[in-house]
Amino acid sequence: MTKLFAGIEGGGTKFVVAVGRPDGKILAETRIPTTTPEETLSRCVDFLQAQADALGSLAAIGVACFGPLDLQPASVNYGHILSTPKNGWSNADILGSLRKAFDVPISIDTDVNGAALGEWRWGAAQGLENFIYLTIGTGIGGGGMLNGNLMHGLLHPEMGHIPLPKDDDAISVCPFHDDCFEGLASGPAIEMRWGVKAEELPVGHPAWEVEASYIAQALRSFICTLSPQRIILGGGVMAQAHLFPLIREKTLVELNGYIQSPEILKRIDEYIVPVALDGKAGILGAFALAEQALKK
Ligand code: ADP
Ligand code: ZN
Repeated sequence: MTKLFAGIEGGGTKFVVAVGRPDGKILAETRIPTTTPEETLSRCVDFLQAQADALGSLAAIGVACFGPLDLQPASVNYGHILSTPKNGWSNADILGSLRKAFDVPISIDTDVNGAALGEWRWGAAQGLENFIYLTIGTGIGGGGMLNGNLMHGLLHPEMGHIPLPKDDDAISVCPFHDDCFEGLASGPAIEMRWGVKAEELPVGHPAWEVEASYIAQALRSFICTLSPQRIILGGGVMAQAHLFPLIREKTLVELNGYIQSPEILKRIDEYIVPVALDGKAGILGAFALAEQALKK
């Protein structure tokens, strides 16, 4: 009998919960609105228990969740959400709520690291040991792998909050920084600056040149600090496919020939790429985390 994995993709507006096979085939899936942690997490547990009763016992659970998260296995708050502006969710014990209900290996990581792992397992980062995955949507988040391991550290990377040089017309939407990548280039930042939702701005609007410049400057920093073998860009804003050629061109200008890799200089189209899994990266990432939990 094939093993069953459970995946939970925890987001600020909804939790997607699924049960499936190790090859990523989803057998059952549900969406649960994000209300209080108690209600949301107990509905996740109820769904998984019902599926386990119907389909067979779960071998492992993977959780890819919004953050910030405590991901230090030695910490007493391991698997908790840290202080968050999301009402009621500060210090929510995501991992503990699941451990109480299921005696199986459980792995938890950020939503971006989860999506990155999904892309590594089934999508645009297959075979790579060093890559970054950035989502540019309501916020900007980044994750990925270094030397074959998902990026962790003191906490986890917060790539959306690196400083960028801002021009005079720019207003930051980040409550913490008046000059960060997320503050200047997230979907809400585009809307704030141009007065219309990003999805309503036409191709060729000056907003896209500005947006591509911000992204290219950020990519320069990530290329110079992390030396990724590939950069995967996702999130609502990156649905604007015309941004890719602009970003590639501006990133080459930013680097100005200094990083002498043919991967960048000759194959930039394969270096800065869109997500391959699209809307499925989150839940497949959670499955990939379940697979990792089982290996550990
Ligand atoms: P979230 O980040 O909340 O998970 P998304 O990645 O869809 O969700 O990001 C939502 C943001 O992306 C919003 O600010 C929205 O204006 C912007 N957005 C969504 N779709 C598009 C689109 N097709 N083109 C440009 N911007 C978009
Ligand atoms: Zn910020």
